[in-house]
Amino acid sequence: MSPLAPNIIERSAPIETWFGVGGGADLLARPHNETELRDLLREQAGASVQILGDGANLLIHDSGVDGLTISLEEMNAVHFPEDDEAPIVTAQGGAGLPKLILGCVQRGLAGVETLAGIPATLGGAVVMNAGGAFGQIADTVRRVHAITRSGQKITLARREIDFNYRRSGLNDLIITGVELQLERVEPGDQPELRESLKRIMAYKKNSQPMGERSAGCVFKNPTVGAERLGAGKLIDEAGCKGLAVGRASVSHVHANFVVTTPDATAQDIIELMARVRDRVEAHHGVTLEPEVVIWSRAGVGAAR
Ligand SMILES: Cc1cc2nc3c(=O)[nH]c(=O)nc-3n(C[C@H](O)[C@H](O)[C@H](O)COP(=O)(O)OP(=O)(O)OC[C@H]3O[C@@H](n4cnc5c(N)ncnc54)[C@H](O)[C@@H]3O)c2cc1C
Repeated sequence: MSPLAPNIIERSAPIETWFGVGGGADLLARPHNETELRDLLREQAGASVQILGDGANLLIHDSGVDGLTISLEEMNAVHFPEDDEAPIVTAQGGAGLPKLILGCVQRGLAGVETLAGIPATLGGAVVMNAGGAFGQIADTVRRVHAITRSGQKITLARREIDFNYRRSGLNDLIITGVELQLERVEPGDQPELRESLKRIMAYKKNSQPMGERSAGCVFKNPTVGAERLGAGKLIDEAGCKGLAVGRASVSHVHANFVVTTPDATAQDIIELMARVRDRVEAHHGVTLEPEVVIWSRAGVGAAR
């Protein structure tokens, strides 16, 4: 086997996620550009590869994860249009969404302020089709630039992407860049755009446990018949608010959030999710599916 490329860390420290639990990666790499990324994929051909965004929707098992984990945190450039250019923002997959939203609002570019309060990289937001009551990232995506696991570059137009509720169908790709089609707001209307951002942030602060460690909603909102039901409401009605396993508990503010304290383990969260799912099934006859992405080693059980 050839020696490891200099930018790969072997048996990394625990990977940082918003839950603050879980183990490390066998191999962790932070490529600086597409060439390094493609070299890595070539050198590690055959290894299982997973892409790390901001870790805001990730639950990693306590024993960590096999193979190569690639963080795109160094591939984070954002290009905002000049005033006389079309209102298209182009950014790399590792660009931070909150900063990008702020940059857009400051320049009078509307469209992504609807995603305020969602921690993510742009790539992670597109893969998950992040969104909520005010909109979803799919509403603004113009084109996606990506690399296949075998290192091939591809570009997809919006119409070629099968966006749906919290899904994009792009999970097998590595999203390296995204073009967002926004709207330029007249200078006189820019204060209203800034107000809109503040209103959405205030709504989030009032309805979600923003100051606590979580991964946002742990379960998807289930579709029953033709109706999409709120998982949080079902969990609340099943009497799960405050339910705890070890250092993980169901938030009192929003029942679809599992919150953790510093000594929590991934196993606490996994067991708690299983209990919540059982209770909701018994109470409502509805089976909840995880929204949070779970990484584990081969042979280590994920959430039931
Ligand atoms: C406090 C809080 C509030 C939240 N509120 C919301 C909300 O309102 N709405 C909502 O939708 N979500 C919400 N979330 C969840 C989370 O913010 C989103 O799912 C977000 O899109 C995750 O992005 P990420 O970069 O952190 O991805 P990660 O969590 O790092 O990864 C998630 C998945 O995306 C894949 N991925 C990441 N980057 C790439 C890439 N470049 N190419 C290919 N695959 C990639 C990963 O492999 C993984 O499968 C919240 C989370 C927290 C902690």
